[in-house]
Amino acid sequence: MAYRVTLIPGDGVGPEITDAARRVVDATSVSIEWEVVEAGASQIEKYGTPLPDTVLQSIRKNKTALKGPLTTPVGKGFRSVNVSLRQQLDLYACVRPAKSLPGLATPFKDVDLIIVRENTEDLYAGIEHRVGRDAAESIKIITRQACERIVQFAFDLARREGRKKVTAVHKANIMKYTDGLFLETARSVAERNQDIEFEDMIVDAMAMKLVQTPQNYDVLVMPNLYGDILSDLAAGLVGGLGVAPGANIGDEVAVFEPVHGSAPKYTGQNKVNPLATILSAVMMLRHLGASEAADKIMRAVIAVLEEGSSVTYDLGGKAKTSEMADAIIQKMK
Ligand code: NAD
Repeated sequence: MAYRVTLIPGDGVGPEITDAARRVVDATSVSIEWEVVEAGASQIEKYGTPLPDTVLQSIRKNKTALKGPLTTPVGKGFRSVNVSLRQQLDLYACVRPAKSLPGLATPFKDVDLIIVRENTEDLYAGIEHRVGRDAAESIKIITRQACERIVQFAFDLARREGRKKVTAVHKANIMKYTDGLFLETARSVAERNQDIEFEDMIVDAMAMKLVQTPQNYDVLVMPNLYGDILSDLAAGLVGGLGVAPGANIGDEVAVFEPVHGSAPKYTGQNKVNPLATILSAVMMLRHLGASEAADKIMRAVIAVLEEGSSVTYDLGGKAKTSEMADAIIQKMK
């Protein structure tokens, strides 16, 4: 059976890493019809928007997408296309696993946690404005409905993956109304999911504990901003942004993408690590039910990492993006 998947190459290094991931997926026995659609800064001239309707239509139709990173101007210009995509498609759960891989020089060898980040509200609702010349205000939106569904999603994920504990991360000591509502809701969802252990932790303490004893954590669920920050921290524990995959999941559709951004300074150099995107594609294959193909890619990835001679600069090697993908494909033969 052929799956139809929307492919968004994206900005910066996006086209290079999505091409690598596509070639790796195509080298499995799974049959995928890729529908390539363009989004991002590069599309503004052509379509007048970084997120043309054709992109949303394609994802809604195919239900599954693999996406390269998209550039967002800092402090000015258009709003994040990533945030807008997640909001418009109601991709409310951002799932970012951090798992130790063999052959990498990392401080720990046994990290295996999943960050579940609420993807649609919090300070990312984008409701902010200047107040006169010298002040600005941003509104943090937290709703019971969004908290309920993200925490329940975390428990369901924990159960599906045979995990033992869910940790809710917050700052309810200071933001008593917004994070207070998140924590209150998380506790009541935990009451209904007593087969899985539950605890809560303040976000600053969580950052320290993740650096000291990441092995103690399993599934972590949190509002949008903390999830954005802690998932980069977690990526740093297992080899960096070059190896950190992610998924944005809603009830209808799912978009898989690396945690990292468009790394503009490396554009066109065939230099960055394609693994974060390849591992995102592995998550996508599991989501589609193609677990044999996913396992096959994982075995090849592990063989390449253990050998260590065909890895990119960030993992201490000299291989180009395309060469690392070729090495993985070679191991799959
Ligand atoms: P970035 O993740 O693009 O890059 C930061 C640094 O991490 C790079 O300079 C590089 O040293 C390293 N890095 C990132 N990806 C790597 C890879 N695959 N292999 C090896 N090293 C890698 O972050 P940034 O520079 O802060 O952001 C650049 C742009 O990307 C911004 O416009 C930002 O808004 C956007 N962004 C997009 C997404 C997304 O599309 N989901 C996510 C984060 C950032």
